[in-house]
Amino acid sequence: MKKFETEAIRTQTERSQFLEHSTPMYLTSSFVFEDAEDMRASFAEEKERNIYSRYSNPTSNEFIEKICKMEGAESGFAFASGMAAVFSTLAALVDTGDHILSARSIFGSTHTLFTKFLPKWGVTSSYFPIDDLDAAEKMITSKTKIIYAESPTNPGVDVLDLEKLGEIAKKHKLIFIVDNCFASPYLQQPIKFGADLVIHSGTKLMDGQGRVLAGVTVGSADLVDKVYRFARITGPALSPFNAWVLTKSLETLAIRVDRHCENALKLAEFLEGHPKVSWVKYPFLKSHPMYTVAKKQMKAGGSIVAFEVKGGLKAGKKFFDSIKMLSLSANLGDSRSIVTHPASTTHSKLSVEDRLESGITDGSVRVSVGLEHIDDIIADIEQALG
Ligand SMILES: *Cc1c(COP(=O)(O)O)cnc(C)c1O
Repeated sequence: MKKFETEAIRTQTERSQFLEHSTPMYLTSSFVFEDAEDMRASFAEEKERNIYSRYSNPTSNEFIEKICKMEGAESGFAFASGMAAVFSTLAALVDTGDHILSARSIFGSTHTLFTKFLPKWGVTSSYFPIDDLDAAEKMITSKTKIIYAESPTNPGVDVLDLEKLGEIAKKHKLIFIVDNCFASPYLQQPIKFGADLVIHSGTKLMDGQGRVLAGVTVGSADLVDKVYRFARITGPALSPFNAWVLTKSLETLAIRVDRHCENALKLAEFLEGHPKVSWVKYPFLKSHPMYTVAKKQMKAGGSIVAFEVKGGLKAGKKFFDSIKMLSLSANLGDSRSIVTHPASTTHSKLSVEDRLESGITDGSVRVSVGLEHIDDIIADIEQALG
């Protein structure tokens, strides 16, 4: 295993007779067989080869192989979106009657999946408080199969102690799944802390330029095989075109994320002293309640800064309407800085109570700090606060 940056660039799968230097794009739905015996043996899985792009594709395989190396995983599968990865992974692993124990702060669509759709198949879930893992352990029942968590969380930028959660999962023989989207594999590798599976939305920092949707699940070979068996039948596979965009993007992941984090820390420090801001949350600010844990498990603080504009909803709205350069959008991890109002957008489907418990107040702002010059990012936010 070479260093992270090197694997991100040099990991490659099949090349054609033309010996392409850069990654070729295999836009093909299916692959041909030599003869009847080759066809039989391929379908019987006696040989490893590409059959049909719903199952596997060389361009997608390169993307998956890179993520496996970055996360220290045995195997993986790539999906058309992050939510396709979340749903297919859970659906492949749970049976009617199973229970999922999840951290309270999770991505809005994942919350809706837990509360609205999984119950249709008799799968229940409950939320543990992210700052009390002893309480979390006490919530495990004989039906619990999975512990599910994100860190840092969306949009609260809370941090969970992954090592401790990994120990609890191991002790109770549960499958520990981490949505590692906010950190990216460059900043944090949950498998080191006991995760069995790691899920990403490739849409965010992996693409990093807001072009494509993608998702990926990596982890232990036996669990990924279950996910693969489910996915090859239900069809959420990543398009080879999007896989090509992503495998090229991963070549610059480390250098981009370094700058995202540098800019985000500077913005967080600026906001922390600002008279119109009631609080700021960023994992690598000393004031973050989980600063020590963040330092232990992450290489840097990530690209997302959360803060609250003083004056509630009205002041919050005025802030958004005064933004000039930054985009008002729902994506994150983009080269363009983005401001989002979680209470009226990504987390609007949550009840007010659930929202507050996830740390989302009416005046909460989430900034995905991009790659523009930090002086211009701060200047726009400063004039809008003014
Ligand atoms: C965006 C996001 C997802 C879903 O990914 P899509 O690619 O939008 O489907 C899942 N988890 C987290 C933490 C996210 O930020």
